[in-house]
Amino acid sequence: MEQKKVAVIGIGSIGSMVLWQLAKKGIQAVGFEQYGIAHDRSAAGGESRMFRTAYMEGAEYVPMLKKSRLLWEELEEETGYNLLTLNGGLMIGPKDIDEIKNVIRSIKEFEIDHEILNVEEAKKHFPQHVLREDEIMVLDKEAGYMRPELAVFAAAERAESLGAIIHRHTTVEQIEELNDKVRIVANGENYEFDQVIVTAGPWTTRIFPELKENLTPKKLVMTWYPTSKIENYQPDKFPVFARMTEGITFFGIPSLEGTMVKVASVDTFGNVEVPDKLIRDIKLSELKNIKEAVSTYLPELRPDPVRISVHMDGYTTDGHAVVGLVPGLKNTFIMGGYSGHGFKLAPVMGKIGLDLVEQGDTEFDISHLRPGRFFS
Ligand SMILES: Cc1cc2nc3c(=O)[nH]c(=O)nc-3n(C[C@H](O)[C@H](O)[C@H](O)COP(=O)(O)OP(=O)(O)OC[C@H]3O[C@@H](n4cnc5c(N)ncnc54)[C@H](O)[C@@H]3O)c2cc1C
Repeated sequence: MEQKKVAVIGIGSIGSMVLWQLAKKGIQAVGFEQYGIAHDRSAAGGESRMFRTAYMEGAEYVPMLKKSRLLWEELEEETGYNLLTLNGGLMIGPKDIDEIKNVIRSIKEFEIDHEILNVEEAKKHFPQHVLREDEIMVLDKEAGYMRPELAVFAAAERAESLGAIIHRHTTVEQIEELNDKVRIVANGENYEFDQVIVTAGPWTTRIFPELKENLTPKKLVMTWYPTSKIENYQPDKFPVFARMTEGITFFGIPSLEGTMVKVASVDTFGNVEVPDKLIRDIKLSELKNIKEAVSTYLPELRPDPVRISVHMDGYTTDGHAVVGLVPGLKNTFIMGGYSGHGFKLAPVMGKIGLDLVEQGDTEFDISHLRPGRFFS
């Protein structure tokens, strides 16, 4: 029987993993990427991403996260690259806020390896952090960091070695379903496929303008800080962390290149009107909150950043991605709007993309991601 031919539009964080999973299954997979592979213009740049399993966004993600971890390891084995390091993760905040309740619920329901530390214990084991009296620290031992550019590169390279084709520097301008096929126009040329998966990240609404009310590209800024105590911020001493403290939610990653520590705000820096024209300049005044947080809660770091990088992601109005068959269409799937927390999920999203094109459904509960909540 002839294998179906599937297009993946956007070979970024999610698209590269979808392409890998399709190619691994022997499906004729063709990727389209408007820039080069592993570029840092959108959601995949900036050296590192956090992997967490005790999930502040909701315990319903944990089965996907557990599978994602296995697939990260599988991709590492297949490619020889080191992509995910589990050095632990600290979730910090008042115990009565929803995010910390979700972390605790994840741990209880899914037996995640962890420790819960009160202020005194936190001070003893992780003295880099200054805690407030009302906060707790949860050590998620199934957390760590990923290398985003290398991960996209590895998945795309592996997909190609398994037979996938990638059209680089090729922008998909139009998608149209015709009978049982889907026609694509890219860089002025026509292509025909059995099915299409759109993984266009912050550009999703260029393809589906009807989502504009509910999906918006937003700017994110990452900052790195020097310290004279860099030895205290190595991966074995300084787990990744996410902290929900009054007025700011921020996260940090240990020093990976040996001289600076990354600490960044989870809060976004406004909407991006045209993703192709992301303005990468930042005013000093925009960094006020994160600098104050560094100065107050991580006092060994010098609160003036020595490195800044600007990226973007597609954010939905409810903070959950949009994954599934596009309502009203037969062969076009959407996987976008990961709202600032999609990188860790990328490999399992690759598997879900494969499930969707093969059987129209997946073993994972993705009901909270269904496209119908936003497409009218
Ligand atoms: C600064 C920052 C920090 C983050 N931190 C974390 C974290 O710690 N942990 C975590 O899990 N997540 C994190 N995230 C979120 C995560 O990185 C994103 O949710 C995820 O990378 C989104 O992937 P994507 O594939 O949707 O988008 P992208 O990776 O941007 O991929 C979309 C791709 O589609 C291409 N494209 C778009 N339109 C077209 C077209 N018409 N034709 C051809 N190609 C097209 C684009 O060029 C791009 O390569 C962070 C995001 C940012 C920006």
